Amino acid sequence: MMYDVVIIGGGPAGLTAAMYASRARLKTLLVESVTVAGQAVTTGEIENYPGFPKALNGFELIDKFKKQAGKFGTEFKSEDVKSIRECASHDKKAYEIELAEESVITLSVIIATGAHPRELGVFGENRLRGKGVSYCAVCDAAFFKGKDVAVLGGGDSAVEEALFLTKFAKSVTMIHRRSRLRATKILQERALANKKIKFIWNSTINEISGKDKVEALKIKDVKTGAEKDFPCSGVFIFVGYVPNTDFLKSVLKTGENGYVITDDDMKTSKEGIFACGDARKKLLRQIVTACGDGATAAFSARIYVEELKGTAYPPTPE
Ligand code: NAP
Repeated sequence: MMYDVVIIGGGPAGLTAAMYASRARLKTLLVESVTVAGQAVTTGEIENYPGFPKALNGFELIDKFKKQAGKFGTEFKSEDVKSIRECASHDKKAYEIELAEESVITLSVIIATGAHPRELGVFGENRLRGKGVSYCAVCDAAFFKGKDVAVLGGGDSAVEEALFLTKFAKSVTMIHRRSRLRATKILQERALANKKIKFIWNSTINEISGKDKVEALKIKDVKTGAEKDFPCSGVFIFVGYVPNTDFLKSVLKTGENGYVITDDDMKTSKEGIFACGDARKKLLRQIVTACGDGATAAFSARIYVEELKGTAYPPTPE
């Protein structure tokens, strides 16, 4: 099957790109991962997306995005992308996208694959993953009803997820390697005012222990080097994100830490491949910035495809 544009990733960036591409009447396919859940879809409450003064659940918001893109003709497939390679179709430069079950050919590609939580890399983390070690409060908080849990990190994710956890846990202890939080001020204010949230400052986690499930953490004071045991039933780790761009390395140049480098028009180093959202190197990773990127990427892809097909709108005469 030949497409004008294949969008890889079903988060806010990909779905916005899909809506814009479909409205431009490009033959559009959106491929979403079956193994990686997006950040937005697993967010409990989204209250900084314009137009929704009453907070929206991430799943609900993504569902609305998807319905809107589908309404304008986007086709959807749930399959993991294995690789992208250059090819030719009817004498035109094209890309072959290898999926788990089949391959599709497209004139252009929009990468909107987002990012996944970074692991801390300490002893016990892998062994106890899913047994008290978690990277998603919305997914796992209900397992910790009435329990004491810890959250590592001081950014927006850590604070938002700690606040969400207070609905279930008996206590939530935030462990952060600095003496103040990095998160947006309004989130800081809420966390500092929440009686269920305690703080251990200037500290990080050196080890996670427990026989079959998390029972304790070894916490290290980063200033003094002193270590202490901290008993708890669960630990939620929010120490940043890693872009989902491994499968791109043979086709595209990625920058520092694997983020895709684009220009302002979302063009990558490869003609016909565009990137948007959290997988892209940029200053601010939010749903609203992902949507803006997605719209721009689709607009650029449209110009590229129409020029390739010779159907571009003619330039204004002198
Ligand atoms: P982040 O802003 O990069 O914060 C990561 C936190 O983890 C930082 O506080 C960092 O400490 C700490 N950390 C990193 N490595 C560590 C280590 N090895 N040991 C201990 N602590 C470590 O990541 P994020 O909070 O996941 O946010 C990512 C992006 O998504 C940001 O742009 C954020 O604004 C956005 N986001 C937005 C919202 C929202 O708008 N509601 C919600 C979630 C995320 P330092 O502070 O010392 O560096």
